[in-house]
Amino acid sequence: MKSSTGLSNNGFPNLIINREEMVESIVSTPLPEAHPAEASLYSRFTGIPGHRQEMLTQARIVLVGAGGLNSWIALGLARSGARSLTVLDPDYVDRSNLTRQLFFPADLGRPKATSLIRNLVQHAVEQARFTGLSINLEEAIREYALPADILIVGIDRNDGRLEAARVARQRGIPAVFTMLSLDGMRCHVFLQGPEKDAACLWCALPNLDPQSASPCAAAIIHGCYLSASLTLFFVHRALMGWPAGVKPFNWREADLLGLHPDQIGFIQRCPSCPVCTEITDR
Ligand SMILES: [Zn+2]
Repeated sequence: MKSSTGLSNNGFPNLIINREEMVESIVSTPLPEAHPAEASLYSRFTGIPGHRQEMLTQARIVLVGAGGLNSWIALGLARSGARSLTVLDPDYVDRSNLTRQLFFPADLGRPKATSLIRNLVQHAVEQARFTGLSINLEEAIREYALPADILIVGIDRNDGRLEAARVARQRGIPAVFTMLSLDGMRCHVFLQGPEKDAACLWCALPNLDPQSASPCAAAIIHGCYLSASLTLFFVHRALMGWPAGVKPFNWREADLLGLHPDQIGFIQRCPSCPVCTEITDR
């Protein structure tokens, strides 16, 4: 028997499949009116190189995955003034997620996408609309218009990454891919530009097997925060452009253990990349 928390009598969580929880859209409460003498909401952003708040506020942002990476990326976006976030994830919250994802015990057994947006609402600083769809990107594209100015891809399945690379290229929008190494200590982030001749994720990582689902990697919250930080920077660059005097890059690697040097680079499109060829020929 299920209780209202999704826990059965012996404490093991059941999946709570409630169709009303598969799709949800929530509008956050606006902040109270500011006093003229108060510091403005974004006053501390003044002086951040290249920062253009309106580009973030207006962007329709789609997050693919509601796990350890996109939990904190979505939180960062909500806190920094994003007004339109759509989260896609067909999975359900389990106990191991609670150590590094933005879920609470009451979310156990519930859909990740809609649970995450409910937990994000109190972090909004703008009057924002957060939508959760408990399906993957392919299904979301098939069933909804899914307006998007950028995709943020925080999943560990290569087939899902490939679908996101295709969708972004077909729509002429940027996509930021973020991933952790198997030991959870090293983060890779790649910005796939919106241009047709920009490098795709497979130009950057030609050995990714699009057919394989990656094994469940180790993950701990500091690796997730590292990813969130580097990814949010790329999201800002994709939406706002680059600060004057900074040479653009689209690849960033950082290693918490310090065993490998951090890397910054600009990946060019590979002329023989099968994914670019396939995407362009469609
Ligand atoms: Zn490519």
